[in-house]
Amino acid sequence: MEDLFVGFRLATWWSVPRLLSYLQFHLLEKIKSESIHPMLTLAIARRTGLPWLIQGAVESLAQSDRLMAGWCLEATILRWATTEELSKIARMKETLWQWRQKMAAVPSARHSNRCMSDEQGKNHCESAWSIHWLVKIQKYINGRHSSRSGFGEIKRVIRETGVLGMDGDCRDQTVTAVIGSELWAVEEKTVAEAVESLMVDAGLIDGQDGVKEIEKIW
Ligand SMILES: [Zn+2]
Repeated sequence: MEDLFVGFRLATWWSVPRLLSYLQFHLLEKIKSESIHPMLTLAIARRTGLPWLIQGAVESLAQSDRLMAGWCLEATILRWATTEELSKIARMKETLWQWRQKMAAVPSARHSNRCMSDEQGKNHCESAWSIHWLVKIQKYINGRHSSRSGFGEIKRVIRETGVLGMDGDCRDQTVTAVIGSELWAVEEKTVAEAVESLMVDAGLIDGQDGVKEIEKIW
């Protein structure tokens, strides 16, 4: 890892496009095989001026199974990532966590007129929805089921899963309202804001063409 950082620094300082291309190719291989932490990819991209790597790194850091507690005190990361980078990622993750908490709470059910006119039926319908949400949906939102479920995937599950014991019309109305909530846009917006705040300009030498060349040869 040390070599990679030093190599990038030298390639940039001495303006050696060939070395930079080779290092970028090497880095891409590491990213593909997930053998480099995205925080380090972010640090290299920002130091070297490789804007095209930033979005992927931030999106990867945004995943709810990448708990900051698990990696933010690792020596290599502390050595290369700046306080500014770490705090921006921390803020992004905190916002995402807070929104997930909010989204995980049982949303209120909607009821058809027919259902509303029958008090007992409505109560039954209401509790069927709560149980459905707590048992089938909540685990997706708080990341316990599949840590990588983005909100798009969670919405698909909500849309496609039947609600046992709930009136069909009420279920459809409720699901439509939940899916249509503006809150779902928050995840994407939060990540996009973090990407923007961490973005850098391309360095003086852009080795991207060189990377493509090397990929062709290999
Ligand atoms: Zn109902």
